Amino acid sequence: MSPDARERRIEATWAGLPVRGVSVAGRETWFHLPTLHLAFDLGRAPTELVAVPNIFLSHPHLDHGAGLAYWCSQRRLLRLPGGIAHTHPAGAPAWTKILALHEDLEGVRYGARVEAMEPGARVGLRRDLEVEAFEADHRVPTLAFVASEVRNRLRPDLAGRSREEIRDAVARGEAVAGKVRVPLVAYSGDTGEGIFSRAPRSFFTAKVLLLECSFVEERDRERSKEWKHLHLDEIAERADLFENEVVVLTHLTLRTSPDDIRKAIARRLPPRLAARTVPFLPE
Ligand SMILES: [Zn+2]
Ligand SMILES: [Zn+2]
Repeated sequence: MSPDARERRIEATWAGLPVRGVSVAGRETWFHLPTLHLAFDLGRAPTELVAVPNIFLSHPHLDHGAGLAYWCSQRRLLRLPGGIAHTHPAGAPAWTKILALHEDLEGVRYGARVEAMEPGARVGLRRDLEVEAFEADHRVPTLAFVASEVRNRLRPDLAGRSREEIRDAVARGEAVAGKVRVPLVAYSGDTGEGIFSRAPRSFFTAKVLLLECSFVEERDRERSKEWKHLHLDEIAERADLFENEVVVLTHLTLRTSPDDIRKAIARRLPPRLAARTVPFLPE
């Protein structure tokens, strides 16, 4: 398969969740979750992402963020209000400056903007949808994200009580319902193995995990450590952590052929994890 073919847009549905995107190490990475109206990273900003109002930008490497100014500019042309790129506080001021320079060059003001998102913070996108961020482990400050459905559920100790008892609790000013989060999709950004000790449990229980795995071959173990990327063996060593319905390996290197990547997954991952693991590769 030619490098051009590897960079083709992929469309799939995993655990009921439609995912579209491109992800090739060093070239371009973006994932569009159309039912959640958000994207993780935006690569070179393909047209399909222009109307997406919330971008979660993991880090400033240009294979993930080159299209940011273009995305802002295109949203303005289409008169789309707002638009927020949520990113690491370490990178946000520089991105804001870059956007201001592009605004000056174009002689316009963009509606879209960059917002710093602290590791550990949560952003509510709808009443029933939240995204939380945490620190990944890369050569530049990088965020990983988990998008969760938020449900309001009756306080467990009130389950089975009568309507009157619950009404009395409300009258006493007690909170009778609590938030329950159901993790839908997690995204690692680019990362070394430090992510596994930093990630919240939701990262490993999200229905779909988009997990960076740049390298799969024995000869690339050192390379993966040096460049702070994940190697398939580092995932295999932690196979018991993953409770996800589907683990999607992303950001795969062009140095290894799709066939060899698929063989490595079958050979190197324990069968119970290999059965739930798919490489993000064109057919
Ligand atoms: Zn990358
Ligand atoms: Zn990177």
